[in-house]
Amino acid sequence: MASISTAGFSANDRQYQPPARPIAVLCLDGCSDDYIDTAIECGRMPNLEQMIEGGFRAVARGALPSFTNVNNSAIVTGVPPLKTGISGNFFLDPETGEEVMMNSSKYLRCGTILAAASASGRKVAMVTAKEKLRDILSLDLPLASGEAFAFSTEKAAEARSESHGIGDVEELVGRPQPAIYSGDASLYVLDAGIVLIERGLADFCYLSLTDFMQHAHEPREPEMLDFMAGIDAAIGKLLELDCVVAATADHGMNYKVNDDGTPNVIHLETMLTKQFGDGVRVICPITDPYVAHHGALGSAVTVHLDDSLDRVEVATFIGCLDGVTEVLDRQGAERELELPADRIGDLYVLSGQHVVLGRRPEDHDLSQLHGRLRSHGGRFEEQVPMLVSEPVTSETSDLRNFDIFDLACNFHLSREEA
Ligand SMILES: [Zn+2]
Repeated sequence: MASISTAGFSANDRQYQPPARPIAVLCLDGCSDDYIDTAIECGRMPNLEQMIEGGFRAVARGALPSFTNVNNSAIVTGVPPLKTGISGNFFLDPETGEEVMMNSSKYLRCGTILAAASASGRKVAMVTAKEKLRDILSLDLPLASGEAFAFSTEKAAEARSESHGIGDVEELVGRPQPAIYSGDASLYVLDAGIVLIERGLADFCYLSLTDFMQHAHEPREPEMLDFMAGIDAAIGKLLELDCVVAATADHGMNYKVNDDGTPNVIHLETMLTKQFGDGVRVICPITDPYVAHHGALGSAVTVHLDDSLDRVEVATFIGCLDGVTEVLDRQGAERELELPADRIGDLYVLSGQHVVLGRRPEDHDLSQLHGRLRSHGGRFEEQVPMLVSEPVTSETSDLRNFDIFDLACNFHLSREEA
């Protein structure tokens, strides 16, 4: 294998000192501890079981709202949304007044660990299942020169060396681009990372999966266990390649249904309009192109109010709704949820373990859901696993999922050195 750079680097005021081994950081999208515990219990993750026996396992807090773009951005930068500026998958851009996807790197307000690692001499590969993440996560990577790679499995066939650092991904992985609504959309990410490391093309990888399977299946379903076994096989290969393997998740997942199995939705804009009249706009920051996952229903929304409406009165009304767990004003959301105040509305609302917040019934297409609604976004999906193949001695009282690159790079340092 070609020599691996051990140059230290810094990103967003944090230092990273990677060892001379390939590093693979995995974001197991939507994978809360119950998925991992169940799969281990069922004997379907022997490699992971062995890995954490000799390594490290903990639970960490993710970033809120517990959505994909928010957390992936935090993970690759090492800082919370307050600093990344990525407050959702979707937001109301105050500069244009338009509701837009937050999937462009122009919205990212700080540099990434990946770009810093690349600049320090590491061979970086960023592979994501979801195309919506590719642009954000590949900010400042030298893709055009082929010194780094960034592509999604959703659009693997469209990867070109000029724009993605590499073409012919299907040939590289050895099978055609997977369907986005499949378990293979994730396993393909891991297989791509394995081939890149095996061939000495990459030694610093961020591999971000999709939560299609978690949205569609609970931990004990056979399809889910097969999927977890697939992840485990890939982890086994990465360990065989002498990688430092570190894995976390962007968020967990819960059923969001009533006793009869129907979605348990508070249509907040409908209710507020009925109570207070016009001048209310509810934004669902979970909104993304993957409607079959969640129908744009999650456990966090933000509310934009016209000046004529009394914020305290509206907040009090929302706070009294059954299923709502927190209502914060803009400053409260900045302080308590670490959100960028200029990229959220006047109020921020979180809901309970089995409750989602929506806009109006006509804004949510649930016809494409795969089974009963499972979703995320609030406090009940905030806790995520932290899994590292190496023993980590440094004690951290408030571990965050965006500390995962720190653990992967600095595990060998004593706390004073790190
Ligand atoms: Zn996710």
